[in-house]
Amino acid sequence: MPFSSLGLPKYLLAALVNQGFTKPYPIQEKAIPVILSNKDVLGIAKTGSGKTASYVLPILTKLARVKALKVRHVPVLILVPTRELAVQVEGVFRQFTDALPFPCKTMAVYGGVSVNVQMQRLNNVSVLVATPGRLLDLVNSNAVHLSSVKTFVLDEADKMLNLGFKKEVDEILALLPAKRQNLLFSATLSPNIEEVKRVLLHNPRVINITPEVNSIDLINQVAYAVSKEKKGPLLRYLIKERKMTQVLVFTSSVYQTDLVVSKLLKNKIEAQGIHSKKSQYARMTALTDFKEGKLRVLVATDLLARGIDIQFLPCVINYELPRSPKDFVHRVGRTGRAENPGEAISFITPEDQHHFKVIQKKMKKRVEMVDAETIMRAD
Ligand code: AMP
Repeated sequence: MPFSSLGLPKYLLAALVNQGFTKPYPIQEKAIPVILSNKDVLGIAKTGSGKTASYVLPILTKLARVKALKVRHVPVLILVPTRELAVQVEGVFRQFTDALPFPCKTMAVYGGVSVNVQMQRLNNVSVLVATPGRLLDLVNSNAVHLSSVKTFVLDEADKMLNLGFKKEVDEILALLPAKRQNLLFSATLSPNIEEVKRVLLHNPRVINITPEVNSIDLINQVAYAVSKEKKGPLLRYLIKERKMTQVLVFTSSVYQTDLVVSKLLKNKIEAQGIHSKKSQYARMTALTDFKEGKLRVLVATDLLARGIDIQFLPCVINYELPRSPKDFVHRVGRTGRAENPGEAISFITPEDQHHFKVIQKKMKKRVEMVDAETIMRAD
């Protein structure tokens, strides 16, 4: 089915052609007409499936019908779990706002940067993308009002309801008007999500996009058995020998992230780190440089495991394993996105062996194990 059959206006169809979106992805084909008909939606779709555009396009279409609101009231609110995702989602809106025949100001608000600038800019905003904590700060200082919200989106909902966000999300829900459209997107249908569906959604359409081939099967995975001390040399060996030009390396702590970056830099391999202790400016610059191919190695904690879309990322390395098998799947899912194959490499120390078996069992995939010392010695 082409985009032109989904009920979108001509100006957005033209913008889609300009953006190179020739054909809707399955989630878009199913969700766009339902969202346009004002129904609540529960979308089960992974990042990389094109889910952002599946709500951005109908929301922008419906904004044409929204009358002017009171000062500092927003008609569209999108809640996301991380600052990087807020910027990314707002970016997708902005990809299309120039094509609209009416003014549409979009804004992302998140912590870690000055609240004053955000307060001043929060006037006449049509689409607000926010992380929960900063949004509540802004509401409490009357910089923005949520009582006119017509469309509410909870993105990465499984995460929003887990990680200590629940109290803040509940507070925000209490500020929204009873009559509104709710769109909830989650990577999985967990018991948590079932509960929210019951409380939050009114007679929702459930759109479940489970890829024909499990996206994890598109990713080439390999594991290297390696001692703790040899991880650094192995990382440098792989980057240099394999001539990697863009690789995302996951560690499990702020400390390790900084350590890995400093060792790479010492060895003249260009690298930067992203973790919760970095300034927002440093996080954004590193991510943008990496996305644009200006930075060879990005080292990150699990802060980056969710939702972030890096087009055609060829390789992810698990320098350390995450504790949860779910996070492992999210990490390797940064590569092999939107039908492009990718590679995921995991470093496995003797102490990790048991945990890695559990991870493989959970993801229902066996990963070939190679002895790192043998390959390094062979060269
Ligand atoms: P998302 O799952 O929303 O993070 O989107 C994943 C990637 O797919 C993004 O880089 C989008 O720009 C891209 N994308 C989304 N929809 C389409 C489409 N219909 N055709 C081509 N690319 C798309």
